[in-house]
This record gives sequence, C-alpha cells and structure tokens, in this order.
Amino acid sequence: MDLTFDNRIAVVTGAGRGIGKAIAEKLAAEGVHVICVSKNPDSCGAAAEAIQQQGGKATAMPVDVSSSEAVNAACEAIQSEHGRVDILVNNAGITRDTLLMRMKDSDWDDVIRTNLNSCFYWSRGLVQMMARGRWGRIINISSVVGQMGNAGQANYAAAKAGVFGLTKSLAREFAKRSITVNAVSPGFIETDMTSVLDEKTRETIASQIPLRRLGRADEIANMVVYLASDEAGYITGQTFTVDGGMVM
Ligand code: NAP
Repeated sequence: MDLTFDNRIAVVTGAGRGIGKAIAEKLAAEGVHVICVSKNPDSCGAAAEAIQQQGGKATAMPVDVSSSEAVNAACEAIQSEHGRVDILVNNAGITRDTLLMRMKDSDWDDVIRTNLNSCFYWSRGLVQMMARGRWGRIINISSVVGQMGNAGQANYAAAKAGVFGLTKSLAREFAKRSITVNAVSPGFIETDMTSVLDEKTRETIASQIPLRRLGRADEIANMVVYLASDEAGYITGQTFTVDGGMVM
C-alpha cells in the first residue's frame, strides 16, 4: 500500500539509536521532515546527517526529554522555526533494572520521568500546533512489559503501563481535532537496550516467542509509519503489540 504524507513534519524522540533511529529513517524515506531528538548531540546529529545523506529532510535537536523545561523550550523553538508539527513519536526510553528491595528513588524517578513524563511534556507542548492544523498523530512507544509486568522492572513496567492510560485519555481528548493517539508495544527487539542480555537469556527469551527470535527495529518502525500516515486516520486509542506473538 502506498502511504500518504503530504509534506508532514515529525518529532521523533530517542532518534539517535535503535528503534527511534529506524522510525526517523522510515518516516524520512516517506518524505517527512524529521526532527531527530536525543539526549546526546552526537547521536541525534549523526542520525539527522545519515537521513540527509540519503536525500531526506532532517534536523537534529538534542533535548533531555525528562526535563519539562527543556521540552518546553524545544517546543517553542520548533514553533518559531517550523510553525507546525504533524506527527509526534514519543520513543525515548531507558531502563534501570533491579529488584524492588534494591531499587533507589533515583532508579524509579529517572525511569518514570524519561519514559512517561516525557510523553506528557511533548504532547502538551506540541498538540496545539496539531490542533490548529486539524490533523495530528501521536504515537507512544510502550512495551510488552507494561502489559505483562516483569520481575526487576517495576519502575519500567509502571512507566510503560502509564503510557497506555495517557494514550487512551489523549485519544479521547483530541479526537474532535482529528488528532489520533496510539501506542505501539514492542516485545524484545535487537537494540543497545537489549544488547546487555547474555546469550543464554536471549535463547530463553527466544524460546518463549512463537516466532522464535527477537525483533528488529525496522519491524517496529513499519507499524509506526503506518499509524503516522493519512491512511490510519480512523484508528485511535489503540495499542499495537509487535512482539513475534509473545503476548496473546
Ligand atoms: P536505545 O537503543 O537504548 O535508544 C534509546 C534512545 O532514547 C537513544 O537515542 C537515547 O538518546 C534516547 N534517550 C534516552 N534518554 C533520553 C533523554 N533523557 N532525553 C532524550 N533522549 C533520551 O533504546 P531502544 O531499544 O531503541 O528503545 C526505544 C524505545 O522502545 C524505548 O522507549 C524502549 O523502552 C522501547 N522498547 C524497547 C524494547 C527493546 O527490546 N529494545 C522493547 C520494548 C520497548 P542518546 O542516543 O542520546 O543516548
């Protein structure tokens, strides 16, 4: 299916590596101007440069998404530079895994701020621009861990479960402006985040996945690009689990 994107402008957070980079590249390949956000300037800089080298449109924007002030300033800068944003992909995320008894306040706070608060800050900062154009797409990257829970990831599971509630509430709030809000819930995907797993753990995980392998970043990006297109205009408030059949 050919997807329609009419010169859209997108913000993709965590676009420096992994899933976010794949999303940014696929959106850019569809003609979307992608504002690549990551924490490290080198990381979003390299991602934007790679897109430009492929003939795509991209801008690098280093922002700490866990800071309300930093995100607000970024949204103001986007408003004055571009005047509009059509697509927001809240993808930036971190893990600070440890069992509950050992979990420090900072492990909890950092994960909630980066994975959940960031979705609130960016949505609040950009939704007015979408509302003005009476068209918008917000896609939040959650995780199967937010659906299933996971020992050692109480902070991450709570943040990712929170993303589902935020997604559905915003879907209801902005439907009248033709802004859709959906969540994509990846299973285990080959990125830096999962590269810390040892071979035995990877084999155990793969054996529990009906499709018998970890996923690739581009397989998540395919779903996000579809949800960001004109063609997905009648889909809102939903979660799309892309996990090789792990959760069913
Ligand atoms: P990754 O390879 O570790 O990349 C994470 C990206 O997020 C990086 O670009 C990083 O920026 C950015 N980021 C982290 N903290 C940030 C902050 N405070 N401000 C701005 N940017 C920040 O992760 P990934 O595996 O691609 O995961 C992407 C998303 O998918 C996350 O939300 C993750 O929870 C979710 N997810 C992943 C998996 C998986 O198996 N990989 C499964 C389910 C869900 P820098 O490049 O500057 O460091």
